[in-house]
Formats: sequence, C-alpha cells, structure tokens
Amino acid sequence: MTANPEIYDILIIGGGINGCGIARDASGRGMKVALVEMNDLASGTSSASTKLIHGGLRYLEQFEFRLVKESLKEREVLLKAMPHIARPLRFVLPLHPDMRFEENTPASKLLANLFPWMKGKRPSWLIRLGLALYDYLADGQILPGTRSVDLTHDPSGKPLKDTFRKAFEYSDCWVDDARLVVLNARDAHDRGANIMTGTKVLKATARGGEWEVELSNSGKLESVKAKILINAAGPWAETVIAMTKPEHYQKRIRLVRGSHIVTKQLFDHEKCYIFQGSDSRIIFAIPYETNFTLVGTTDQNHGDIKTKPYCTDSEKNYLLTAATQYFKFPLSESDIVWTYSGVRPLLDDGSTSASKITRDYKIEQSDTNGSPIINVLGGKLTTHRKLSETVVDKIVPILENKSKPWTHGFPLPGGDFPYHQVHKLLEELKNQFGFLTEEWATRLVRAYGTDARIMLNGTKAIEDLGRDFGSTITSTELDWVIAKEWVRCAEDFLWRRSKLGLRVLPEQVKEIDSYISKALISN
Ligand code: FAD
Repeated sequence: MTANPEIYDILIIGGGINGCGIARDASGRGMKVALVEMNDLASGTSSASTKLIHGGLRYLEQFEFRLVKESLKEREVLLKAMPHIARPLRFVLPLHPDMRFEENTPASKLLANLFPWMKGKRPSWLIRLGLALYDYLADGQILPGTRSVDLTHDPSGKPLKDTFRKAFEYSDCWVDDARLVVLNARDAHDRGANIMTGTKVLKATARGGEWEVELSNSGKLESVKAKILINAAGPWAETVIAMTKPEHYQKRIRLVRGSHIVTKQLFDHEKCYIFQGSDSRIIFAIPYETNFTLVGTTDQNHGDIKTKPYCTDSEKNYLLTAATQYFKFPLSESDIVWTYSGVRPLLDDGSTSASKITRDYKIEQSDTNGSPIINVLGGKLTTHRKLSETVVDKIVPILENKSKPWTHGFPLPGGDFPYHQVHKLLEELKNQFGFLTEEWATRLVRAYGTDARIMLNGTKAIEDLGRDFGSTITSTELDWVIAKEWVRCAEDFLWRRSKLGLRVLPEQVKEIDSYISKALISN
C-alpha cells in the first residue's frame, strides 16, 4: 500500500450531489479537500432522480414547512447559478371530483377534524389554497405563480381525457441531475479539490484526532490522512457509519426505491403534468430529451443497498396504469424506451408508508476517539447547496478557518450568463460555428453553457472537430469530457454527462468506448 504524505483538511466519501456540493463549497473557502467516489460521479442516486428543483407541493400536506420553504427559495438561486442545465417548468394539475388525500397526513387529519363529512377528500379549493401557500413561501422574482387552466381550450388539455376540464398550473424547475453533480465537482477541482473517481474507501481509522483512510483504485491500495471525514455516501451512508465505528449510533436511514419509465413523446407542448393516481399518490409526466416523456416515480421499500435497483414489471405497470387514467390514449409496455431506478436514502421517521417518510435531511456531527466526522443523512438535489453550506459552516470552527458562505450567487462552470438569455447564447453559438445544426447547438448550450464556445474554439468546419462518431458526438467533445469531467468509459458519457445513450447504436457505443480507453492510456 502506498501512503500519501499529504494531510487533507477534509475527505469526503461519495461523489453524488451532496459530496460534490460540499467539495465545491469547502474548496472555495480555502480548505484542502479530497473527494472519493467508488464508481463514476453521480452513479448512485444523483442521476436517478425526477430531476426537479422543487418545493415539493405534496410535502405541504405533511406540514414540512421548513423543507418546503428552503426548497422553494433555492429554486431561483439555483436557476440563476446554472441557467444552462436548469430551466423553469409549468406543472398542470388536472382536477377531478374523486381526488383524495394519502391517508393520515397531518393535513388530512386536520381537515377531517374540521369538516368530518369531507374525510379523506382533497377538494380543489384546498389544492388552490396549498398552491397559494406554495407561491407565498417562495416569494420569488422569476417564476410565475399559480393560475387556473381551462383544459377544454388550453393546449395542455389536448392529450388528456375529455373528463378533465379544469386544472391548476404552477411553477417549479428542471435540472439535469448528473450534470449538476459533475459541474459541482469541476468547480471544486478548479478551486483545488482532489476528485478521485473509481476509488473506494475500504476502511477509515480514527487515530490521534485525525483519520487514516484506506482506498482502493482498481485493486491499487493507497492510504491518505484527513483531519475531518465527511460521510456523503447517500444510500451507503450506514455502511460508512459502520466502518467508522461511532460510539452511539442507531439505524437512521430507510432505503426507498423510486423508478421511472421513459416513453416515446406523449405530448407536444413544454408543460408537465402532475397526476394523482387512484391510490392518492402523485406521479409526473415530463417532456424529456426533446423526443421522449419521463413518467415517474414509485416509492418501494428497498431492503439492501447491495441489491442493484431496477424498475420491476410491477413498477412499470403501476406507472403505465396511473398515466393511462389521464391520457386519452392507453399506454403499454411497447411505449417504454428506457427505465431507470434509484434508491432514496431517507431519514427514518417511523412512517409506515414509504411515500410519507420525510424528505428533509440531517447533518450529524460526532467523533470517534477524538477524530471528527460529519454524517449527511437524507436530502434532495434541490437542497444540496444549502446542505453543503451547513456542513461547511460546521467544519469552519474545527479548522479555525474564518471563511464565510459564498456559493449563493456564484455560477457553476458554463453558467455565467443571465438565466433568461439561453436563446441568445444559442444564437451566438450558431452564428460563431455555422456548421452546428439547431439540435446540436441546443444540446451543447444545455450541457456546457458558455463553455461550449471554449470547447469549439478555433474550429471552422465539422472536419475540425476530429472524428465523427455520429449523433453529433465528435472527438473534440469526448476529449473535453475526458479532460474536464472524469469520463472513463462510454457509459459515463452516454448516460450521465449526456443522455445520448437514448440515441446511439451498439456499434457507436463500442467505438466511443474504445476511443476513451485509448485516450486514457495515452494521457
Ligand atoms: P448519491 O448520489 O447516491 O451519492 C453517494 C455516492 O457515494 C455514490 O455515488 C456512491 O457510489 C458513493 N459511495 C458509497 N460508498 C462509497 C465508498 N465506500 N467509497 C467511495 N464512494 C462511495 N431530489 C430533488 O431535489 N428533486 C427530485 O426531483 C428528486 N427526485 C428523486 C427521485 C427518485 C426516484 C430518487 C431516488 C431521488 C430523488 N431525489 C430528488 C432525491 C435526490 O436524488 C437524492 O437526495 C440525492 O441524489 C442524494 O445524493 P447523495 O449525494 O446523498 O447520494
């Protein structure tokens, strides 16, 4: 085993959104940071979400006001910091007389006490009241508030069954979850963090107020030292806790699987739907990657993190059935082009139903034999920046570092342009690089923002971009993601740095894989 003589201020276990967010915040405050990810960045839960930056309308019924308020406020902060990978969305919530609460939420209990004859019902006036509260708590400047929609005239009513005549429409945001992670990692790296992917933490030993951490990178063993350990291992957090041997710890995390199906495009407008199924759960149908629709999600208890999550047949049927209750056309398995599944690391609050467990997070600071450790439990993409700020604020006094929070108002790489000028950036890119098609330029702007110009700098014709792998993938782009985004194989690029996996053929995958392997060897 090789021993790295460096002593890091903090070593973060986990390259999901929470680990990368903490790495960014801490390195921006002058701390010496190492982040260790056993697979690819965002290979855990952080690429398997519904990809919403949202307050979480349904959490209001659980009276989770702190979480909803923090999340609502983060929407516009994040939108401004990453206008390339995030965008505002309008959600259409079709109304019908049979809408019911999920059982025993605090809101349903309160309503049943006040109006016993309405027990279990979720009347439209209450939904409107909830949306008014949502808008009020958001207190936003950018995203428009709620309005009523006449589905018999609005284009959003067209694909829905004729029985749906009225809806409410409200705002939330979309984000490319996996790119959110990698751009946080890149910013952290640009500010001095050492980001180690394909590297697993095998053991962490508390010694003399510090941590000695054993790492394995493709069988190569290394040991590093850090003053503080941060456990941001998401659904693996309890495995890490067991490894670090805290004195008092009770099981806190409940693993809940959520699956999505991606179908062929089901409607041709840009709004999303929020549907309430006959079991009172809600699902979303969201325009996805131009030609597809994303439908999700489920809430299933997931026993063991060692079992790789996948979308089971019964989850597929559940989602198809729930969507078919709303769309004019029946959906079947043949409409599904892809599925994905992830495991939520939720704080176990004793709820019986998986969908009712709190989505809030907890940051636990403790130590083992005097060596400080911070465990991050739970959380959402939406709250990652605030969560990271809170974690780093806890580290500051331990390191006697005098820094202040800084990430509010600072763009992620490529996001240094006004949030409402995505179209202007697109036009500029097409003018500067006349060989780009509309679709290609849009993809580059949405993935790389202003960095797309830097990536293409000096090119005048398609031939200048090197090898053409088809589907607008060239060696110029692959060289960029290898050099700047820790891409190590085709899957990293096709399914996490992009979603081009939906468009390429197996031969293209092989060629991209082989190009990346050769490039990594020669680097
Ligand atoms: P992860 O992303 O899982 O990262 C943990 C990382 O730790 C993994 O990459 C893993 O490989 C690594 N790791 C573990 N053990 C080790 C080790 N020993 N050594 C090295 N590395 C290790 N949130 C929203 O805000 N909006 C949404 O729309 C939304 N939708 C969701 C839908 C679903 C179905 C799910 C499952 C979640 C959703 N979430 C959403 C929640 C959000 O995705 C998660 O809270 C977030 O991604 C968790 O990030 P994380 O960094 O804690 O965990």
